[in-house]
Amino acid sequence: RVVYVNGEYVPYAQASVHVEDRGFQFADGVYEVCEILDGNLVDERRHMARLERSLSELRIDEPMSLRSLGVILRETVRRNRVRNGIVYLQITRGVARRDFAFPSPGDAPGVVCFARSLSRKAGDAKAAVGVAVITLPDIRWKRVDIKTTGLLAQSLARQAAREAGAYEAWLVDEKGYVTEGASCNAWILTGDGKLVTRSAESGILRGITREVAMETARARGLHYEERPFTVEEAKSAREAFQTSASGLVMPVVKIDGVAIGNGKPGEIASGLRAAYHGVAEVSTPHHL
Ligand code: PMP
Repeated sequence: RVVYVNGEYVPYAQASVHVEDRGFQFADGVYEVCEILDGNLVDERRHMARLERSLSELRIDEPMSLRSLGVILRETVRRNRVRNGIVYLQITRGVARRDFAFPSPGDAPGVVCFARSLSRKAGDAKAAVGVAVITLPDIRWKRVDIKTTGLLAQSLARQAAREAGAYEAWLVDEKGYVTEGASCNAWILTGDGKLVTRSAESGILRGITREVAMETARARGLHYEERPFTVEEAKSAREAFQTSASGLVMPVVKIDGVAIGNGKPGEIASGLRAAYHGVAEVSTPHHL
C-alpha cells in the first residue's frame, strides 16, 4: 500500500507528517471521503466542491487546483489497486511553530491521501439486515457544516455505540431533535409515507450522499421534507435509515433498542440504496 504525503507516494509504514503539523495539534484541517465503485470515483465533483468550501471557511489556502487534487485521488486509487472502497483526502494548514493564530501566509498546506478497499458484499449484507443505532447528546462544536478533522466528539459517540452493541450513534440537540449521525445523515419515513431529513441549514454536515439520495427519491416520485425530527418521532417512524459515502443508504432497524417498523430494513430505504448509483455521478475521466 502507498499513501500520498505532501507530493510523494510513500509506503504505508513510512507515511508520516511532522509533529508540528497543525492538523495534528489543532485539528486545523479538512477532509473528504469519496466512494470508489469499480475503480471509479462517485460524486467526485460534489465532494471537491464541499472541500473547497471547507477550506475557504477556514481560510486554508488551496494547495493546488481541484484538477490536480483529482489526479492525486485517481493515482492513489490506481496505485493501491482499489476496485471498491473509499479514498480519503485531507488538507491541513500545514507545519508551523505552535501558535493558536495562523502562521504567516505562504506556508504550504499539508496534503495526505490514501485509499482503502471495502467489500461491497459486506456492505450489502449489512444493509440486508439493517443496523442498530443509539442516541446521544450532540456535544460537537457549532461549525459542523465544515468537514474538519476535529472529530473527537464523533469518535466518543461511535465508541459508545460500539460498547452498546450498536453500529452508529445519532446525535440529538438540546431540544430533543436528531441532528445527524456521528458520520452520516439521519432520515426517517413517516407513517404517511414522507421522507424526512434535517435541513442542511442548521446543525449538520451537508452530506453528499444525502443530496444524491434526495435526487434519487425525487426520481422515484417520493416526497421528502427537510425538517428536524425528534427521537420519539424516529422511534415510531415507519422506516429509518442513514446516508454516507462509505455506508451509502443504510437501513436502521433499531433506535435505542426500539424496533423501527417491523424491525426489518424498510422498502423505501432499500429501494433508495439499490437506485443510488444510477443517480450518482460515477466518473473516471477528468471533467473538472
Ligand atoms: N455527517 C457527518 C458528521 C459526517 O461525518 C458524514 C460523513 N463524512 C456525513 C454526514 C455524510 O456525508 P457524505 O454523504 O458526504 O459522506
